[in-house]
Amino acid sequence: MPLLHYPAGVRVRVPAKVNLHLGVGGVRPDGYHELNTVFQAVDLVDEVIAYPARHLEISISGPHADEVPADSRNLAWRAASLLAERAQVAPHVRLEIAKAIPVAGGMAGGSADAAATLVACAELWQTSSSRPELAQLAAELGSDVAFCLLGGTALGTGRGEILAPVLSTGTFWWVLALADYGLSTPAVYAEFDRLNQSSSKGIPQDAAGSPDALFDALRAGDTRGLAQTLNNDLQPAAVSLAPALRRTLAAGGELGALAGIVSGSGPTCAFLTSSQRSATRLAAALTAEDVCRSTRVASGPASGARIVR
Ligand code: ATP
Repeated sequence: MPLLHYPAGVRVRVPAKVNLHLGVGGVRPDGYHELNTVFQAVDLVDEVIAYPARHLEISISGPHADEVPADSRNLAWRAASLLAERAQVAPHVRLEIAKAIPVAGGMAGGSADAAATLVACAELWQTSSSRPELAQLAAELGSDVAFCLLGGTALGTGRGEILAPVLSTGTFWWVLALADYGLSTPAVYAEFDRLNQSSSKGIPQDAAGSPDALFDALRAGDTRGLAQTLNNDLQPAAVSLAPALRRTLAAGGELGALAGIVSGSGPTCAFLTSSQRSATRLAAALTAEDVCRSTRVASGPASGARIVR
């Protein structure tokens, strides 16, 4: 009986993401925007522990845990249900989610938990699912789930779920400025559409390709080169919905970040720094300026969802 293998549960650690480049194209017939994005996983992590149980149940801990549904609306719940259905096992598991990734922060927190759940439940239930099979389920669950499973640095196309690993050397140091509020991803895309419809340019049907300079900087481990190529097409929309982000981004620049960008749909801001030491200094300075709820120092690229023993 496989469940007896894990009376103490299966513990999986999963990273958050930042988008180094987020090119947004037109709306597809399925309602999603066409994306061309470069993800980097950073070591700000959630942990999901899967325990043997008689039902499917979820508990959540960490800051803002009360804002996360502990029922079938939780992406982790949907991940467990989907895997159980495909593997033809009963969806019996108790999932304990320890959240450090900000909720509705533009860092793929829900997607990360879904990816971790796939890995944890596959092991708990001994489904013998291969990594490509889990990646297929991840892509069905949501745009960012497949990347949270893969980790590292990757180019994402389609709605972000078609992934190709990108060569990256060295370690990049980030300061993440967390807000005390969330932004809804659909609301940010709706604002993106509104802003672009009212501009003379309109939205290009295809998301513009990522700049070669970005890939060159990643390959060379060149932090300053990377700083010059960060781009997020959603940033004007996020700033339009949350104008306080202007102050946060400006403060990061004034306090020595090489570059600052809204992470995905926001409101977390990600500042690139030249070293761990500069990151620690910038994090303290941003906290003192009172331009965000809290800061985290994180490095990337980090590994995707993986079992920790
Ligand atoms: P993304 O960067 O992928 O657009 P996000 O990081 O901005 O997403 P999430 O933290 O994934 O946003 O949460 C968005 C909403 O999804 C939350 O407000 C919450 O109601 C719901 N949700 C469902 N499952 C989870 C989960 N496991 N963790 C966090 N939020 C979840």
